[in-house]
Amino acid sequence: MNEPLLTVSGLTVRYGGVVALDDVSLRVPKGAIVGLIGPNGAGKTTMVDALTGFARYTGEVRFAGTRLDGLPAHRRAARGLARTFQSAGIFDDLTVEENILIGERSAARRFSTLRAIFGGRTEKPRAQTRRIIDLLDLGGSLEVPAGELSEGHRKLVSVAQALAGGPQLVLFDEPAAGLDSTESAWLGRQLRAVSESGVTILLVDHDMELVTSVCDELVVLDFGKVIAAGPPRQVLDDPGVVAAYLGSVTTAGDA
Ligand code: ATP
Repeated sequence: MNEPLLTVSGLTVRYGGVVALDDVSLRVPKGAIVGLIGPNGAGKTTMVDALTGFARYTGEVRFAGTRLDGLPAHRRAARGLARTFQSAGIFDDLTVEENILIGERSAARRFSTLRAIFGGRTEKPRAQTRRIIDLLDLGGSLEVPAGELSEGHRKLVSVAQALAGGPQLVLFDEPAAGLDSTESAWLGRQLRAVSESGVTILLVDHDMELVTSVCDELVVLDFGKVIAAGPPRQVLDDPGVVAAYLGSVTTAGDA
């Protein structure tokens, strides 16, 4: 496996009396797709929030060789760390192209970009963003308002939005939630294409078909602790992982 792009050591997040993450360590190798899974409430979104500067933590996060601890969200994003949100973060009234364009801009410029778009002033995507649009085969729907898209395509637009800033690592928070198994498999193929284009991925999802088919490695959280990590099949056969899920493993559309 390649050298780690992201190294998390002893990360702990507390919400009042709740320890959402408890001394978690993990590595994401450069170029890999690592799946972060676990039962409801295990701490997966909290991990995404902490890494991207949306939740306070103790411990150490190293990204591309430097420590991120103490940096606010926009400075982490500027260093090449992007994320999606469970709610998809898409504006229904804007077209696919306009939604993607918002992702292209730095946090500092996002507001002025939004104002320009809502003011009717069009901006054109950069060449790099055009490549993402082609990669995800969104060229045919650029003028379509996002509110008219299927759930699967909305998720794909949020993937494109996250990629538009040219990140090194993207943290996807449940991109397959609300998708049926066909849409989820299709999304998985798009994520593979994204990975092959050179972007490293941390994928949080409940869809076991998706994570086992696209991930190189899995990390399993339970009650805020890592209980297993390694190749997908090995991890899912781990008795501790089976016990943690207690038969509650969901398939596409259940999450
Ligand atoms: P799910 O699969 O249901 O999305 P998850 O693995 O993403 O769950 P988190 O959302 O990270 O889990 O939650 C981890 C724990 O932290 C849970 O006990 C949750 O109730 C708690 N928690 C999360 N966010 C907050 C918050 N803002 N304030 C207080 N407690 C929180």
